[in-house]
Amino acid sequence: MKLVNCKRCGKLFQYNGISQYCPVCMRYDEENFKKIKEYLYEHPKATLFQVAEDLDIPVKMIEHYLKEGRLEIVESENLFLKCEICGTSIKSGRYCDKCVRYLDSDLKKAASEAARNLLMQRERRDERMRYLNKNKIKKF
Ligand SMILES: [Zn+2]
Ligand SMILES: [Zn+2]
Repeated sequence: MKLVNCKRCGKLFQYNGISQYCPVCMRYDEENFKKIKEYLYEHPKATLFQVAEDLDIPVKMIEHYLKEGRLEIVESENLFLKCEICGTSIKSGRYCDKCVRYLDSDLKKAASEAARNLLMQRERRDERMRYLNKNKIKKF
């Protein structure tokens, strides 16, 4: 067991190999996910922003579900989710089909590292905003 910072609140918790959230945030996460699922069941064509607004859930969080592949965008004109490598619009996950294949090729390591760095930069930026509320920055 190792201690990691919760992706959402930044608190240290014991990493169970499954969730990047602490138990409190994981429950919050699950509850929101359930709400979104139910909402989409009733409003199959809702846009991300509609969902966020009606359920009062941060857009970023919904995007996170999309990235994890737990939610999928049904309407093709929803263009807010982009491949992290080439920027093509995608419906679910983090990369477009082309880049997934690319990631599977010999260049896998370099490409995924670049993507990871990009993602980390983005997450760091968000984290830092959250960390302002905390007393200490433990990471970095
Ligand atoms: Zn947390
Ligand atoms: Zn791509």
